[in-house]
Formats: sequence, structure tokens, C-alpha cells
Amino acid sequence: MQYRKDKYGNDVSILGFGCMRFTRNGKEIDYEKAQSEVMAAFHAGVNYYDTAWLYPGSEVLMGRIFEENHIREQVKIATKLPQYLVKSPAAIDRYFDEELTRLRTDYVDYYLMHMLTDLASWENLKKNGIEDWIRRKKESGAIRQVGFSFHGNTEMFLKILEDYDWDFCQIQYNYLDENIQAGRKGLMAAAEKGIPVIIMEPLRGGKLVNLLPAEAKKLIAENEKKRSAAEWAFRWLWEQPQVTCVLSGMNSLEMVEENCRIASEVQPGEFDDSDRALIAEIKRAIEKTTKVGCTGCGYCMPCPKGVDIPATFRCYNAIYVEGMKTAIRQYGQVVGIRKESAFPDQCVQCGKCEQHCPQHIEIRKRLKEADKALRPWYVKLGLKIVRGFMLKG
Ligand code: SF4
Ligand code: SF4
Repeated sequence: MQYRKDKYGNDVSILGFGCMRFTRNGKEIDYEKAQSEVMAAFHAGVNYYDTAWLYPGSEVLMGRIFEENHIREQVKIATKLPQYLVKSPAAIDRYFDEELTRLRTDYVDYYLMHMLTDLASWENLKKNGIEDWIRRKKESGAIRQVGFSFHGNTEMFLKILEDYDWDFCQIQYNYLDENIQAGRKGLMAAAEKGIPVIIMEPLRGGKLVNLLPAEAKKLIAENEKKRSAAEWAFRWLWEQPQVTCVLSGMNSLEMVEENCRIASEVQPGEFDDSDRALIAEIKRAIEKTTKVGCTGCGYCMPCPKGVDIPATFRCYNAIYVEGMKTAIRQYGQVVGIRKESAFPDQCVQCGKCEQHCPQHIEIRKRLKEADKALRPWYVKLGLKIVRGFMLKG
């Protein structure tokens, strides 16, 4: 494992464990499996673990793993204040205290304001006394460093960056998002101020691996360096010295092993012209085939009317990657053939989902488009018959 420095000179592993995508048995995270993955990463030198109030069961799970394996003092916990729920100063304490309980600890190494999208969300926290609160928590040692995670545009990122003496920040960044959200411009601005940058969505929610179009897969397979799609995406990030730590939601031992290997080998500035040309070609191939830039994060869920938003967009994008027939079959299986159907025509246009989408997708409009493409009349008819049988049974 290699390490880069945080603002105060502490070593942070360049690979961080994203604790949002553990395997579940029904609603519960599979504890044994998650523990073996976390401990494999720990033994390979990963010392940064990123969780959040919002990730179901994640803080509780991490607290248990760290306590049962006696490694709390050797790891750095990053967790987040659900700032979008804060309506009063008392709420800040309530969330933080509950997070400490869940994590079975009395301090958080890196505490983030979760998902700031614009200056107004930060202003709301200031109105509720966050600056004074942070000062007190830092003095007491309950919080070691304070940062924010961000999903707005570059201009807003720069404004928030300037508005407070942050210790670190977290941005969505990968080769497909080089010029959107905080983007490369934001990364450079943070680095110039000496603010470490943690990277989330390095694989764009799997899009840069499993959901690559055939043309991009071919480019990767034919490249003489014989790297996997994930390896190219990680190396593109780590070769930039301004990147401090890249989070990966690892949910298999193979993934942990592979990512740790890359994190041990990569060198800053290692890309040559042919590497950059390959990434540019892959990007062109992806952009030709993407309908909706959904990462599958699920922040828009649950929809009060039961619409499965991420699954609908996944199937919509699949039209161009896997073909219409496969996409329609998946749509029927995932969204239609279940006890409570989750089709977009159940949407009542409340707009709740759009308030939470970090990718700023016009969800209501795009759902209509997706449903129209994925459910022509004959599919509707077929699904009606299948559902009729299913519900009878
Ligand atoms: S706008 Fe539609 S899809 Fe979005 S939360 Fe409301 S009902 Fe669900
Ligand atoms: S629509 Fe937006 S919030 Fe919902 S899963 Fe996709 S990216 Fe996430």
C-alpha cells in the first residue's frame, strides 16, 4: 500500500474502503462476508474507511468490526452529518451522538458535511451554528478533521472551498466526470490550497467496468498493457498527485486484492501519451451510448409511489450497451415482475427524488422517456399477463 499525506502530515492510504456497497442478505448486510473483506483490506494497509449516516446499517457494522477486531486505533473513520436533515442546532448533536454510538467510538477522524450541492446548503448549516459546533468538537477531540462531500457544479465547489478553513474535501471524480461537478478544476483548486481530496465514484457506480459498451471493452482488451477496465480507471486517478485517497466500495475479496495490488504499484505521473489517448477513446465510446448519467447511488429512493428509479435508468442505458431485447427483459424482471410493480407510470410528479439526486438528473422527465422506450404496447400486454398469473399464484 502507498500513502499520501493529509493536511496535518498523517499517512492516508491511497485506497480507502467505501462502506456503502456491502453484500446484503435481504435487508441486512452479510456481517461475516463484510468483515472478511474489511479485514483483508486492513491487513493490506488500507487505513481509511468511509461511511455515513445515510448508508443503511453501515455505521453499525463498521463499529462492530472495528471493536471485535480491536483495530479502532489503527484505522481512520470518515463519516458524515446528514446536513439535508438539519433543521436546528440540536439536530446536529443528535445525529453526531447517534453516529458515535453506532460506531462504538468517542471520536471521528474525518467528519464530513454530507452532499453539499451549493452554497445555500452550507449557509443553512452556518445558520444552525455549525462553525461554533465544529470548533467545540475539535477542541474536545471528538472530531479530528472536518471536510465536506460535494455534488454540485464547479462554481459552487469553489465558493464552498473558499468559505471555510476545511481540512479536506470529497468529490465525485473519474475520467468520465473530468469536467463536471467539482471536476479537475476543483481538484486543482483544492490541491493549491493544500486541502487533501478524497475521491468517490471512481468507477462511476460500475459504469466504467461492467456497463462499458462493447467498443470500449474491445479497446481495453486489445491494449498491450493488458489491464482491466477498473485498473485503468484507478490508475487514471492515482497518477494525479493531487488525489489523496480513492474510495472503492469493495464487496469481494478478489476486488480487495486487485485494488490493493494496483494501489501498491501505481506511480504519480505514470501515464504517457498512449495511455491518455486510450482513455480519450474509451470516453468517446461511452458517451455515444449513455442515455442517463445515473450512478445507481440510490439517494433518490425510496420513492413514495414505489418507482424503482435506479433500476429503470440502468435498463434504459442497457438498451445501448446490451441491446433492446436484453434491456426489455431486464426491465420486466427487475421492475415489472414483482409483487408491487415499480414502473414509472406510478409517479405522481412530487419531485422528491430530484431534490436528492447528486447528478442533477431530471428524473421525472427521464423516467417517462425510459418507460416509453422499454415498455412498448406488446411488452405492456405480456407483462400484464405474467403479473396476472404471478399474483394468482
Ligand atoms: S417524482 Fe415520481 S419518481 Fe420521484 S419521488 Fe415523486 S413519485 Fe417518485
Ligand atoms: S437518479 Fe440520481 S439519485 Fe437516483 S440513483 Fe441515479 S444518480 Fe442516484
